[in-house]
Amino acid sequence: MSIIQKLQLFLTLLLIVVGVKGYAQTTIELTYANEPARTTRIKAMQEGKIAYASVNELATGFLLLSKRVAETRQLELQAKEYNICLTPGNPFLSITDSKRSRSLVQLPFGIEQRGAELFAPVESFVDVIDDIIPEEVSYDRTKQRIVVGKLSLPTTYDISKVSFAQKSNGYLLRIFSKKRINDYESWLKEVEDGTWLYITLPETKADLQALNSQKPDGIVKEFLAFQSPTSLQLTFKLNTKVRNTELMQAEGSNDLLVAIHTPVEEELKAAKLEAVLERTRNRWKLDCIVIDAGHGGKDPGTIGVKKTKEKDVTLAIALTLGKLIEQNLNDVKVVYTRKSDEFIELYRRGQIANAAGGKLFISIHCNSTPRKPKPANGFEIYLLRPGKTESAVQIASRENEVVKLESDYQQRYQELTEEQFILVTLAQSAYVKYSELFAEILQGEMRRMLPVKNNGVKQAGFYVLVGASMPNVLIETGYLS
Ligand SMILES: [Zn+2]
Repeated sequence: MSIIQKLQLFLTLLLIVVGVKGYAQTTIELTYANEPARTTRIKAMQEGKIAYASVNELATGFLLLSKRVAETRQLELQAKEYNICLTPGNPFLSITDSKRSRSLVQLPFGIEQRGAELFAPVESFVDVIDDIIPEEVSYDRTKQRIVVGKLSLPTTYDISKVSFAQKSNGYLLRIFSKKRINDYESWLKEVEDGTWLYITLPETKADLQALNSQKPDGIVKEFLAFQSPTSLQLTFKLNTKVRNTELMQAEGSNDLLVAIHTPVEEELKAAKLEAVLERTRNRWKLDCIVIDAGHGGKDPGTIGVKKTKEKDVTLAIALTLGKLIEQNLNDVKVVYTRKSDEFIELYRRGQIANAAGGKLFISIHCNSTPRKPKPANGFEIYLLRPGKTESAVQIASRENEVVKLESDYQQRYQELTEEQFILVTLAQSAYVKYSELFAEILQGEMRRMLPVKNNGVKQAGFYVLVGASMPNVLIETGYLS
């Protein structure tokens, strides 16, 4: 046999031997927890369930110096404080510490040699290395992976963000949460230069890195998040005094809202409320009465049996009423929509009343019946509402007729339909009850004082009342017919 033939035979036998022993070449991943980019694969072989890794490549991975001792065929690995000596075919590792004291560690399987290279049963060998180098080293059999350092597991956090917003009515802290937080607790601690706000959320996990990298701003001077195994504590240093806080679930999300009420805000609120009350008081303080003498000028109103014109009667009543009010009510200003025989458009009467800041609008008219003379008499008081009876509707349409004397009445006055009434009623809803109250009082007084029939409080759609933004009534003082 030639040398080449002998070599071929040797290799064939070697392959058979290796084949019998069943070593399969493979690689094992070596990962650094803090430097994933450094991940490498090291040469390994697998026999059944036992994986062997190249000791030289492991040494490189663990930053150990390795030295082959020629005469003993042993391999020495040098760690900072230990020296490990491996012998081919031998399961014993000889470990010497810095004080030169020696101990033996037995691996479950011996060190294998392939060519010049030594292979160690990786799982048990990594355990030994773990004890002698500062870093934590572990072997994950199922993933065939050696991890140097600690891999942080991808944790699912509930909270990774908070936000602070100044609202018109205070401050709102939003704790963005992925899960519903049903349990929470907060308390305040006042200090000289502000207030500490502590919020504890049991069974809640936070991404502390994300949270603590949030920069405080606005009223938040400091923000700290602490995670304990059972709860999360959020701590805010606020640069203001805090009256109280309210925690609540946000609607439509899992976020938690914290309303922060500051004393300033409370005081402002109180002041605002006082101003509103003051305005409300002034709004309804009866300090200006607008008296509207119906008709006038080219609009005579209804004409009585003795040719009496409604416009003259209403003006006389209006002026007399105004004088009486001025004499008897010191604090009440009287404003007339007209003081002489002049034509004033219906819409202008409302404008005059509104411009004067009127608190009560009294429109004075005289009634008549379609067929005259007819024994109709007495007074009626009208409220602005959809007409309920045929006669009320007729009276309103007669009083409204005057708009046809105005040049552009069709644009100015919409027909008082049901829909229109709803809008008007809405606009007047604030003082409708005062109109009713005044109508009742007026009716009672007129019944008591006047020797004429009381036809009661009625309702109909009078244009002249539509424009008056204040309690208003229309009085049909009596029948000229
Ligand atoms: Zn009239």
